[in-house]
Amino acid sequence: MTDKFRALMIDKEEDEQSVNFVEISEDELMEGNVLVEVTHSSLNYKDGLALTGAPGVVKSFPMIAGIDFSGIVKDSEDEKFSHGDRVVLNGYGLSENHFGGYSERARVKSDHLLKLPDNISNKQAMAIGTAGYTAMLCVLGLEDWGIKPEDGEILVTGASGGVGSVAVSILSTLGFQVVASTGRLNETEYLTGLGATSVIDRSELSEPSRPLGKEIWAGAVDSVGSQTLVNTLAQIKYGGAVSACGLAQGMDLPGTVIPFILRGVALIGIDSVMAPMDKRERAWERLSNDLDTAKLEEMIVDSTLENIPNLAHKILAGKVRGRVVVNILENN
Ligand code: NDP
Repeated sequence: MTDKFRALMIDKEEDEQSVNFVEISEDELMEGNVLVEVTHSSLNYKDGLALTGAPGVVKSFPMIAGIDFSGIVKDSEDEKFSHGDRVVLNGYGLSENHFGGYSERARVKSDHLLKLPDNISNKQAMAIGTAGYTAMLCVLGLEDWGIKPEDGEILVTGASGGVGSVAVSILSTLGFQVVASTGRLNETEYLTGLGATSVIDRSELSEPSRPLGKEIWAGAVDSVGSQTLVNTLAQIKYGGAVSACGLAQGMDLPGTVIPFILRGVALIGIDSVMAPMDKRERAWERLSNDLDTAKLEEMIVDSTLENIPNLAHKILAGKVRGRVVVNILENN
């Protein structure tokens, strides 16, 4: 018999979803070969979708929510990990078909876990979280396409959000001129503090426009999708690229192929959930070198687990700035 611990569980009965704090024991966790004491998790847009019952995120019920966590290994059947190792897990089905990070303990597959670089604390790992690790994947996408600081300005859409904030910060540290697009111009000081050289109103990008616009951006990181992504593509300079990871405006793509076939623009798809381990290791290594921890500190909104159902609605409404870190061990 093992002791009980706390988790945030999503359940569904007769099409009615409920979210409840439950006490469970290790025997009730899902299969895996590593047991982790979770110290921190985070709130991402996808967590907002899962907790508010958006279809298609949670694939089996009941399900512990939370698409990521950092923690300390308690027990491992795989010699790659030992008691006391500090680890992080992003995606790989957490909160979809495997119990997630909103829990004091997690049992997972060793193949899905990554040891944290020494200079990233457990809290910083979740200040980065899935949004920040995805921002790094977006930056790597642009770099691998060959985009360099001297090529011109980089546009970041959804800039005050999680992916956007981290992308602005990393790109500016790497020497890029970053233009932040936001619906919250009152966050201009925050965004320039993260390194944006200028800030534009997102309404400049969100309405239907011509298939090809003036060539403005060397590249872009887009977490918004829909008309914003279409207009962004239409403004990319010859041979540039957009790393696209999100759908905060919508999942549609109401545009033309013209930027691709007349300007050789690339649309780089970014998926963090099933990204292979070598890509994850590369991203976390780069995060440990290229993310300014003082700027990361500016992005943090601290939360207890109790407050997460409330914040879930706020993140979907675009009312969360930066990154919400869930201190799993703290109570309200
Ligand atoms: P956040 O809510 O923190 O950020 C999204 C930002 O988008 C908001 O802060 C807001 O920024 C902007 N926004 C919101 N609504 C609209 C709208 N209607 N039109 C235009 N802009 C809008 O979410 P995350 O950073 O956690 O995630 C961002 C997106 O990336 C989500 O769609 C998420 O699902 C996706 N994502 C995808 C991943 C992948 O693996 N592909 C991994 C992680 C995230 P502002 O106020 O500055 O305009």
